[in-house]
Amino acid sequence: LLREDLDDLEEYLPVKPLDVLAAEIGVPVDRLVKLDANENLYGPRPAVREAAARAPFHIYPDPGQARLREAIAGYVGVEPGQIVAGTGADDLIDVLIRLVLPPAVVIPTPAFGMYRFLAKILRARPIEVPRRPNFDLDVVAIRHAVQHQGARLIFLTHPNNPTGNPINRAELEALLALDAIIAVDEAYIEFGGSSVVPLIAAHPNLVVLRTFSKWAGLAGLRVGYSVSAPELATHMMALKQPYNVNVAAEAAAIAAIEHRAEIAEDIAAIVAERERMSGLLAALGWLQPLPSCANFVLVAVRGRSAKEVAAALRARGILVRYYDRPDLHNYLRISAGRPEDTDALMAALEEL
Ligand code: PMP
Repeated sequence: LLREDLDDLEEYLPVKPLDVLAAEIGVPVDRLVKLDANENLYGPRPAVREAAARAPFHIYPDPGQARLREAIAGYVGVEPGQIVAGTGADDLIDVLIRLVLPPAVVIPTPAFGMYRFLAKILRARPIEVPRRPNFDLDVVAIRHAVQHQGARLIFLTHPNNPTGNPINRAELEALLALDAIIAVDEAYIEFGGSSVVPLIAAHPNLVVLRTFSKWAGLAGLRVGYSVSAPELATHMMALKQPYNVNVAAEAAAIAAIEHRAEIAEDIAAIVAERERMSGLLAALGWLQPLPSCANFVLVAVRGRSAKEVAAALRARGILVRYYDRPDLHNYLRISAGRPEDTDALMAALEEL
């Protein structure tokens, strides 16, 4: 009775609860240095937390998202009719694939894993197009996938996770001329790179995905949004789950926008820490951090196994991601945290 094409589908389990992790490693929860999931370790501002706590938990959220769409539109500088909010940016990836229902989607790799995961569930064939050696897009191969392999939806990430590099504007403009929906995932745009939202006015096939998980420190509440031409937004609104953004997430997101000037201080601190951490890592000699516009750094590991380095850090309560796969051989991805997080990371690396 079950779909055979999902026989080899595995649960998407990139993270574990903090207390479970701490117990596994044998350190107190407050000693964990969590640099593995690009979260904002400053957490939400108290006023944002209080706004979420005051939300009317016994009342369904507004399926039309009127207040939230208006607040986000003000933040982005577009009209409310161009915004659709979701249960994290992940929800909008799902809505887009269901709306287009393409035979195939293009995913330039290395990429965020959710595109492939959701495409597969929705029976859209993922066409993974390797990026060039410097991690720029292979425009020729992407164009080929659209013109000859049935791709109708392209996921680009700006700046990219896990490589941290921005999209080249001329390459994006070349792709926007294709007969395909181009989703530009700007989950990390608050940390660097310039947004492509201004291109929407001339390109009704462009949709930008954003989130409150990173800059606003609300990953656990799950709220993201899309920005597009109003027509595409109207279709997405009709197709989404009606109550996809819960009342606490809605209140927190609106409060985060109201308090964005204070949160900008945390963002600036994270960006400064990204640069300080990159300098310290490079100085070790056996780690080679790549330039990054995001709140994490991809690091090539020389002369040692990235997997073993990640395991040794983990044993000291420091969590990072490692990659050892054909498209990303022997790399670590390390999120930028607070100064004390970098200090703990560096102390542990020097011990190794
Ligand atoms: N896009 C990218 C590129 C990401 O890295 C992430 C989070 N890891 C997301 C989207 C998901 O964001 P959200 O938490 O809003 O679902």
